[in-house]
Amino acid sequence: MSTAVTIRPARRSADELRALAERGAAELRSRQADEASPAEVVAWVAENFGVAQAAVACSMADAALPHLVAQSLPGVDVLFLDTGYHFLETTFTRDEVARELDVRIVDVTPAQTVREQDAEFGANLFERDPGLCCARRKVEPLQRALGEYELWFTGVRREEAPTRAETPLIGWDERNGLVKVNPVAAWSFDDLIDYATAHAVPVNPLIANGYPSIGCAPCTQPVAAGEDPRSGRWAGLAKTECGLHL
Ligand code: SF4
Repeated sequence: MSTAVTIRPARRSADELRALAERGAAELRSRQADEASPAEVVAWVAENFGVAQAAVACSMADAALPHLVAQSLPGVDVLFLDTGYHFLETTFTRDEVARELDVRIVDVTPAQTVREQDAEFGANLFERDPGLCCARRKVEPLQRALGEYELWFTGVRREEAPTRAETPLIGWDERNGLVKVNPVAAWSFDDLIDYATAHAVPVNPLIANGYPSIGCAPCTQPVAAGEDPRSGRWAGLAKTECGLHL
């Protein structure tokens, strides 16, 4: 785990960063016939951004993405959205990642504790208005945290959901105003597990217990083998995304 103090250079303008994202996407397309590999995508980032300018979003379902990024950007910040509703296994995995990988875990917390939110909106807001709950406990805190950086990595994969099918390797994140990089967009779930196994990176024990997609405990259920991996998220509701990757 890195403990170094981060000194961040001045943030480049949105126009500069948007142009850089477009150039990166074009460069990676032109290098070879096949789509660039996750390692090649991360290497392109390391050529164009300093480690202090990049962050990795991680739900602590597994640490494949932080491990992959840390190969080219050791000591990179890993943002963990500490919603106050996580499974114990998830916080355990977070601690394991902090111990074992060359990354710096940054706990990103909502403006209100769960108790404060309950006092203002009533208990279990996630049951009555999960959109509002996610907005307050995930979307706003992440947006606030991303303001520090020029680029963020996500573990979004195209096969996860129809809404993710067109995910590019590199793009401009208009809502958050920074470059968004999805190095493992082309990976299957098996690719992810194969990488985690080959590199002995921490994996949330819930994955082996029927939770292929892991979010907050009240909104995540196990799924049967062969079912849509994300069907256990907000099961029974129309909601399929927390709003982080719109
Ligand atoms: Fe709230 Fe559920 Fe969203 Fe977590 S996943 S922030 S508990 S609605």
